[in-house]
Amino acid sequence: MTSLPLIPVDPDARGRRPALPPRHLADLDLPGRQALVAELGEPAFRAKQVSNHYFGRLVRDPALMTDLPATARERLAGTLLPTLLTPVRELACDDGATRKALWRLHDGSLVESVLMGYPDRVTVCISSQAGCGMACPFCATGQAGLTRNLSTAEIVDQAVYLAGVAASGVVAGSPPRLSHVVFMGMGEPLANYSRVVAAIRRLVAPAPEGLGLSQRHITVSTVGLVPAIRRLASEDLSVTLALSLHAPDDELRDELVPVNQRWKVSEVLDAAWDYATTTGRRVSIEYAMIKDVNDQPWRADLLGRLLAGKLAHVNLIPLNPTPGSRWDASPKPVEREFVRRLRDAGVSTTVRDTRGREIDGACGQLAAAEDRDTEAPGEERRDRA
Ligand code: SAH
Repeated sequence: MTSLPLIPVDPDARGRRPALPPRHLADLDLPGRQALVAELGEPAFRAKQVSNHYFGRLVRDPALMTDLPATARERLAGTLLPTLLTPVRELACDDGATRKALWRLHDGSLVESVLMGYPDRVTVCISSQAGCGMACPFCATGQAGLTRNLSTAEIVDQAVYLAGVAASGVVAGSPPRLSHVVFMGMGEPLANYSRVVAAIRRLVAPAPEGLGLSQRHITVSTVGLVPAIRRLASEDLSVTLALSLHAPDDELRDELVPVNQRWKVSEVLDAAWDYATTTGRRVSIEYAMIKDVNDQPWRADLLGRLLAGKLAHVNLIPLNPTPGSRWDASPKPVEREFVRRLRDAGVSTTVRDTRGREIDGACGQLAAAEDRDTEAPGEERRDRA
């Protein structure tokens, strides 16, 4: 993976602090929106009206906001709903049940989100950063480095936009209402902590303040930033935590998830169990099965010993080989033996369904590769955590 997820629109801006995107209503709680509306000289209740269009009706076109005076529509929408995400490409596969969206942000950065329809639910996988600084060698996003953090509204707007796509009925065979959000797109959510937590608050606040999703239906996936996991446990939120473990021993995890050099397997698991105890939520342990790297029977046994008796579930992800990578997915018999050993140890384990082969929109493949050949096989996670 050699391409970069950044189109430098202003070469002079390189090396400077990235310009913030315009402020948007999803950056603010309801009182903050009311204050902003008041600054425009409009009555405060307009904040609720615009919020209801955006979060409640999934409408962002001012022409459709007919309960607002025609003279104020453009001004209110221009201030509260500036365009944050410009769709560059939308790709669909699995008969339309999986859709990847590639967005251009105001500074030219590119990020991706994925919409996944199932018979009983609709999930979106969203990005929290443009690029990622965690440098996991098997992940496409990790190869390109971090461009910048996304703003709260840039994070929320991915979900709201795709909720609108789902509501339009294009995802045949799925409910029209977005129900689940996973922070498993580009970026390390806990490295953009305050904006991600604010985004979660918008996603779970009832309309018109927010999207009204259930906290239990939101999953934050992390490489294991221990202080941030502990801080998340102290918020009044009980979202699901997914921990990208990928190896049960420090020697290998130091290589696969380089942040392990800072926080070891034992420390990150301690933080995960404390999170589970505080929130009552089962932690999802993510483990990409990489042929001859982390898939040996002894590693399954070691993982089983670490997790037995804990409030944990293992999600094995067949590795999605990224372009140029030296690694491959484990063969199915090896995978089955790994599952068997974990289950024998009493650990609840599933293998992620794969789908979405053609659209390069899968686990670890979100690299916003506008200029890359997208022929590489892609597989889509089925996140049922
Ligand atoms: N930074 C966060 C979230 C983004 S990645 C994290 O690391 O958890 C979401 C999940 O996809 C993580 O578990 C990640 O390790 C996994 N992943 C990344 N690249 C992958 C690949 N090539 N194949 C399979 N899973 C991958």
